[in-house]
Amino acid sequence: MGLSDFKNEPLSQFKTNPEHQRKMAEAVEKVRGELGRDYDIVIGGERIHTGDRLISYNPAEKNQVVGTFSKATRELAERAIRTAEEAFKTWSRTPIERRVQVLVDAARTVRENKYYYSAWMVFEVGKSWSEADADTAEAIDFCEYYAREMLRLERPAPLAPVPGEKNYLRYIPLGVGIVIPPWNFPMAILTGMTTASIVSGNTVVLKPSSDSPVIAYKFFEVLEQAGMPPGVVNFLPGSGSTVGDYLVAHPRTRYVAFTGSKEVGLHINELAAKPQRGQIWVKRVVAEMGGKDSIVVDSETDLDLAADGVTSAAFGFQGQKCSACSRAIVVEKVYDAFLDKLKQRVETIKVGVPADPGIDMGPVINAGAEKSIMDYIETGKQEGRVLTGGRTTSSAGHFIAPTVIADVAPKARLAQEEIFGPVLAVIKAKDFDEALEIANNTEYGLTGAVYTKNRQKLDKAAETFHVGNLYLNRKCTGAMVGGHPFGGFNMSGTDSKAGGPDYLLLFTQAKTVAEKIGA
Ligand code: NAD
Repeated sequence: MGLSDFKNEPLSQFKTNPEHQRKMAEAVEKVRGELGRDYDIVIGGERIHTGDRLISYNPAEKNQVVGTFSKATRELAERAIRTAEEAFKTWSRTPIERRVQVLVDAARTVRENKYYYSAWMVFEVGKSWSEADADTAEAIDFCEYYAREMLRLERPAPLAPVPGEKNYLRYIPLGVGIVIPPWNFPMAILTGMTTASIVSGNTVVLKPSSDSPVIAYKFFEVLEQAGMPPGVVNFLPGSGSTVGDYLVAHPRTRYVAFTGSKEVGLHINELAAKPQRGQIWVKRVVAEMGGKDSIVVDSETDLDLAADGVTSAAFGFQGQKCSACSRAIVVEKVYDAFLDKLKQRVETIKVGVPADPGIDMGPVINAGAEKSIMDYIETGKQEGRVLTGGRTTSSAGHFIAPTVIADVAPKARLAQEEIFGPVLAVIKAKDFDEALEIANNTEYGLTGAVYTKNRQKLDKAAETFHVGNLYLNRKCTGAMVGGHPFGGFNMSGTDSKAGGPDYLLLFTQAKTVAEKIGA
């Protein structure tokens, strides 16, 4: 099976291309007309309705229901695992070309309807048009990239010859995987972990985030349309603590692919490590977790470029990206000048309802997030100086003004804890070396960026800035599938490098076969 070389899906240009703008506006209206529908659990292709409801709300209009869902019970979780286990018997032996075709067909469906999927994210998680468009494009990329990666992995790996033997190594699937995505890239990350699982021959119980079940369901439907047999992915919305724990601890669970917070990731890792009665393997856990990402601004740099990069990385999607810049570490000599430029830019950010074109920032995801972020802002008022923002902007939804707290000490809470909202701490460093030391002073190690024109400083950063994804003279968000394999160090996770050439190895196990010739 031949596929053309992988290329990233182009992003839409809403500001300059009227055609893109028109299509997105139409999709927003179409989705508006589909809000509030009811969705089922799907196990083995069968739609199952339960009495207990899970409700997904629009964070921009608190009372607007995006969709309601049947909530899974432990009995249904058990059924989902058993169904996936049964499906594994045939799916794991299904020719790779057929599995690859499901991903290619899924990518085509999403591409043909990309504004529709983006519009769901506008309503369900409050993404601006361009943020939603990038999420959809990344989902397409994951399908196309892992399809090609599976074909590459299928080719025999070169082994050293052993006289008198014919030897080979093959990558075979693991078994039943539990896929647990976050809400912040509700399409892309869910698609990445799910398609990597199934193209490798595994079967899945997919437990979507309770904040983004509709977009999860929409992608599940795409897989069904692409010819995925029943039971290969089972769609199981439900509470993390009841159904999630049950799935993770289950003895027939072979692996867990998780992306989310450090707290939940560590909990899953611990639970999965404990063998259960009847369990015959060591479970594998792929856990991509939080970040406290820094951009270092040196004195030898173009401050406008740096201020643009920091603004965009700190406040894109309301700062709710694991890769978001939540600390700007600025060398003393340019500190005040940088703050002026930053303030100017941040104060032009338009906060509003994301269904409207032309806003830059929408709401944060829910009431809990709003409270936690506002509590951090209160802490920030003690730990530093509010340069701009520091308040909510409307009570119709969970809107918080983009907030910059300056003069924060390197070990202050605001400089150490993941806030996951539109709050940027600015820290002063006496020189570049101290700035790099501060950049490495958290428990995380996900992304980071450095702005400087000095070659030696760039080289030093490349050597010592301890993050999974380092960017030089560009912002620390916006990793591209294939070009920037993504994953973090330390408490940011297991460094799985999603969208990279090693990723499918996490979903497979290598089997060596050595045959004596002429026996
Ligand atoms: P979260 O940890 O609250 O939830 C993630 C998922 O885990 C959800 O589907 C949730 O329902 C589920 N869950 C909760 N408790 C569970 C349990 N006991 N057992 C099984 N599943 C359980 O995270 P979130 O709020 O959805 O996402 C934001 C977090 O994700 C941030 O910390 C962010 O940095 C991180 N994130 C990391 C990456 C990365 O690649 N490193 C990417 C995106 C988001």
